[in-house]
Amino acid sequence: MTRIDALLAAGRTTSFEFFPPKTDKGEAALRNTLNELEPLSPSFVSITYGAGGSTRERTHRLVVDLLNRTSMTPMAHLTGVNHTREDLAGILGRYRDAGVENILALRGDPPRDAEEVFFELERAWQLVELAREVGGDAFSIGVAAHPSGHPLAPDLATDRKHLAAKLAVADFAVTQFFFAAEEYTRLLEDLAALDCHTPVLPGIIPITNIRQIQRFAELSGTEVPAALADRFHALGDDAAAVHALGVEVATQLCQELLDAGAPGLHFYTLNRSSATREIHANLGL
Ligand SMILES: Cc1cc2nc3c(=O)[nH]c(=O)nc-3n(C[C@H](O)[C@H](O)[C@H](O)COP(=O)(O)OP(=O)(O)OC[C@H]3O[C@@H](n4cnc5c(N)ncnc54)[C@H](O)[C@@H]3O)c2cc1C
Repeated sequence: MTRIDALLAAGRTTSFEFFPPKTDKGEAALRNTLNELEPLSPSFVSITYGAGGSTRERTHRLVVDLLNRTSMTPMAHLTGVNHTREDLAGILGRYRDAGVENILALRGDPPRDAEEVFFELERAWQLVELAREVGGDAFSIGVAAHPSGHPLAPDLATDRKHLAAKLAVADFAVTQFFFAAEEYTRLLEDLAALDCHTPVLPGIIPITNIRQIQRFAELSGTEVPAALADRFHALGDDAAAVHALGVEVATQLCQELLDAGAPGLHFYTLNRSSATREIHANLGL
């Protein structure tokens, strides 16, 4: 079984997210990470889609490579930004023809230094519809969810309505990372109140470098709670202690999410394996 909608219907999933490396060194490191994580038999692994240029083609190559050369089931991220509808239909057609069955349909953020930004499909739900048009039943299609709301929405309630409408045409969602289980349970309650019951996978990012995670959080319109950040800052440059605390905090969050009935756990690995492997072992997955 390799479609994510079928995997979710059958039971709890575990999944790992990676980005396509830009250098040979990065590529070698990712190979290592994949070799170390493959024995954990993830339900699926996902590959992000960059803001432009050659990194976009690298996503395609890596996804097809994972499909053909490993035992892991890949999911390809795809974004609408700076693509025509025709480009997107072409990319989806290539995935369909290669036998890739799982797509994460996203709006994408314009690159910060971009001279030109355009959208022919400005909302992720439009990309979901295009993927259905191109793939028919070939694709299981996921979308992004933002527990603390998406920064472009005027308010949280409006964002939840947009999310529920998007989930009405998608098969599942994966959330932006967050640090308190209540953020996830609140999101599910809000969706249930809108009569939306599509599975939502929580996204977990283990903190192994607090400054880096705070930067990512800021870019995605969320934040690391101050009390949690202070615990990491208090450890200063002691990388081993930071790593251990990061694993401990993420393990606890995952356990709370599983206890709350999450349909699976999606780990943002940042192309490294050790924190994810330790959390996986701690949870006895
Ligand atoms: C799990 C996950 C994976 C990601 N992977 C990538 C990646 O690989 N590459 C990448 O570049 N980015 C990635 N992102 C980031 C994502 O592209 C950004 O967060 C982006 O800003 C929003 O994408 P979206 O698909 O949620 O957008 P949408 O669902 O299109 O929402 C964007 C905004 O539009 C609003 N909106 C939706 N529908 C309507 C409507 N009908 N009318 C008015 N407003 C509306 C929403 O409220 C929201 O504010 C990922 C995010 C997550 C959570």
